[in-house]
Amino acid sequence: MKYLSRLNQVQRQLEHDRLDAAFITHLANIRYLCGFAGSSGVLSFCRGTWEFFTDGRYAEQARKQIKGATIRVDALPPLAHASRSIASKLRRSRSASRIAIERDYVTLAMQTRISSELERATPKSRYRMVQTAGIVERLRIRKDPEEIDHIRKAVDLASSVYPKALSSIKPQATENSVAAELEYLARKSGAEKMSFDTIVASGIRSALPHARPSLARIGRGFVVLDYGVILGGYCSDMTRTICVGRADRAMRDLYSAVLEAQLAGIAAVRSGVAAQQVDAAARNVLRSHKLDKYFTHSLGHGVGIEIHESPRLAKGEAQTLETGMVVTIEPGAYVPGKGGVRIEDMVLVTETGCEVLTPTSKELVIR
Ligand code: ZN
Ligand code: ZN
Repeated sequence: MKYLSRLNQVQRQLEHDRLDAAFITHLANIRYLCGFAGSSGVLSFCRGTWEFFTDGRYAEQARKQIKGATIRVDALPPLAHASRSIASKLRRSRSASRIAIERDYVTLAMQTRISSELERATPKSRYRMVQTAGIVERLRIRKDPEEIDHIRKAVDLASSVYPKALSSIKPQATENSVAAELEYLARKSGAEKMSFDTIVASGIRSALPHARPSLARIGRGFVVLDYGVILGGYCSDMTRTICVGRADRAMRDLYSAVLEAQLAGIAAVRSGVAAQQVDAAARNVLRSHKLDKYFTHSLGHGVGIEIHESPRLAKGEAQTLETGMVVTIEPGAYVPGKGGVRIEDMVLVTETGCEVLTPTSKELVIR
């Protein structure tokens, strides 16, 4: 049911944009539209029909998962197969056909492949490739109850391994070993995989917002842990910063300023508010503590089938938040040579505000 209604919505948009055919090649969009969770396939639309092309390795999986599209299995690469199928359908059309490709995901090689297959069957003057963006993503931005349920489970699983992972944090441990422990616990608890490369950054390295875990010892100071899991195909994302050893006054102040900014960001979230206003709410708090120059990234992002989705919560983003969006609120302050703090929760946008999904406490933990 849900896949059919999603396909219908996309079809309406394509028809509205006078597009005769479309290639959906981005796997997250394919999964959203027809349920296929494998890693090779193309979903195509042409003149009112949806077809899914894959190779023999995924035939069984496609039959189990796909709803709403006709499955085509062939030894031919899926994109070539889809192109031939569309070419044969459009061959007899009187006017030039408009064929949509996903601008953000079609490589030059893919586009060349599509063109050469089409040209074998159709004169070049008979079709036009149209670059589209966001047709499926605009639907994905608001999550339905079933998706929210998946996201809650992913968030809860990630949070549930946090206390155990904390006990692996010791001055002598390496960042790598803490990351490995965290990922091991997550997998053992049922995570399909991590939703991105786990970040464990300690000491002065905590001032690098996207530090990769290294063989550096945890030592003393802040440790930023940023990680998430995929469960039921949906991602989670959380960050906590703890302190190993003594937290001096400056460290406590830095932590509490970031927490204050994070709470201000959460308080600003509600349906109808512009994304940039939420970013500003958190940024203004850091400014009042003269820390805004150390907050070098945006406040948050949507999360769903992919770890980074629309909307972006950042300066200049006019997009308004709507009920059913799931976003992160993750301010940070990174003081070069000293250390950094980031605190990140996932929240569900509601009519009157938001529901914080991440249950893990944000009190400063000192170990
Ligand atoms: Zn994160
Ligand atoms: Zn994030």
